[in-house]
Amino acid sequence: MVAAANAANSLPGYGVDKKIPGQGDFSLTMLDWIKKQKERITSPRLDWVQIEVTSHCNAACIYCPHTVIKERRQNGHFPLTLFRDLLPSLGHTNMVFLQGWGEPLLHPDLFEMVRLCKNEQKIVGFTTNGLLLNKKNIHTIVDLQVDILGVSFAGTTSTTHNRIRKGTDFDTAVAALEYLQRIKTEKNITRPAVHLAYIMLASNVDELCRITDLAKRTGAEQVVASNLSLILKPELSQEALFNNPQRLNEYNRILAETKKKAAHSNILFAYRTPVLDETSQVCPENVCRACVINMAGEVGPCVFANPISSKSTGKLQDRQIVAIFKGRPIPLKTFSFGNINDNGLSRIWHSKKYRAFRKVYEPGTNPAAEEVPLEMPSSCKTCYKRLLSS
Ligand code: SF4
Repeated sequence: MVAAANAANSLPGYGVDKKIPGQGDFSLTMLDWIKKQKERITSPRLDWVQIEVTSHCNAACIYCPHTVIKERRQNGHFPLTLFRDLLPSLGHTNMVFLQGWGEPLLHPDLFEMVRLCKNEQKIVGFTTNGLLLNKKNIHTIVDLQVDILGVSFAGTTSTTHNRIRKGTDFDTAVAALEYLQRIKTEKNITRPAVHLAYIMLASNVDELCRITDLAKRTGAEQVVASNLSLILKPELSQEALFNNPQRLNEYNRILAETKKKAAHSNILFAYRTPVLDETSQVCPENVCRACVINMAGEVGPCVFANPISSKSTGKLQDRQIVAIFKGRPIPLKTFSFGNINDNGLSRIWHSKKYRAFRKVYEPGTNPAAEEVPLEMPSSCKTCYKRLLSS
């Protein structure tokens, strides 16, 4: 937070515009400067902001919106100009994670965005599928002092991983991480911290036990094992661990074994037991102190609020996009509190609508009744993430 405050004082975004008072249109520059300063001062105090720098992807993972609702998505890159305009709104934000439903390394200006954030003394990270982690990009990541590099896995063997994360390549990702580790050792540096993101499915969870070996081999500090939370077609339902309660003992044994192995190797292992808690009123996404901005500039509480870039009304019509929730198709609605193309992030964050939403999830405000509050948005009511929060 101190670093963010310093950044606010030094107004580093000012120089980016390449206009200084006394040159060019002075009054316009001053007005712009005042607007930016005001946005910086009123910017929300957030732990992190996640920005979907691109919604393009070069892979076709079997469970991802990219693959399942491919023809309904509108893909694009987050414009660099919009990113620059957004920076004053991040004045009191600690971390910027450049990630959404897409492969960040496909954005031609990703590294410029990293540089701009580092200039503002932000913690910066992103997650990649590893396909573009070539030597050149690895050296740039190291030189720019990216803080966190996540790499996604869906297995600890190439056969399983490549079957699920179609278009990616297990061996390529592992080789890239080994190279990165070598560079870090040579330079005697610890950043970027490598995190492995493992999607747990019924058809790959048996390989999770070996993720610690993979983490050690690739120099990863942390493993995050996630459940499949957004199910976009009926055939994928059985891949969600929580839809296989008859295998719960097996899952618990695998998770306990992985946790033990990780602890033994000093690797942080984060996961949630695949058991649904129907009365959970907790969102695990830190929605009161973080937000997500999608490629189109829409601001929401999580990536699940905007898995599609086009607007969806949620009406059950022909070709309506649906998610499968408890065996039934549920209209998939997009969920936004405003667009940064129209209003500053500060204004959106402090809006009545957004404040009312956060009130539902504020820690310590859980109503006594063991029921989901009526004010909870419908998308949250049918969200597996919430049910898996305990
Ligand atoms: S409950 Fe689900 S949809 Fe609602 S904010 Fe949390 S993660 Fe997003």
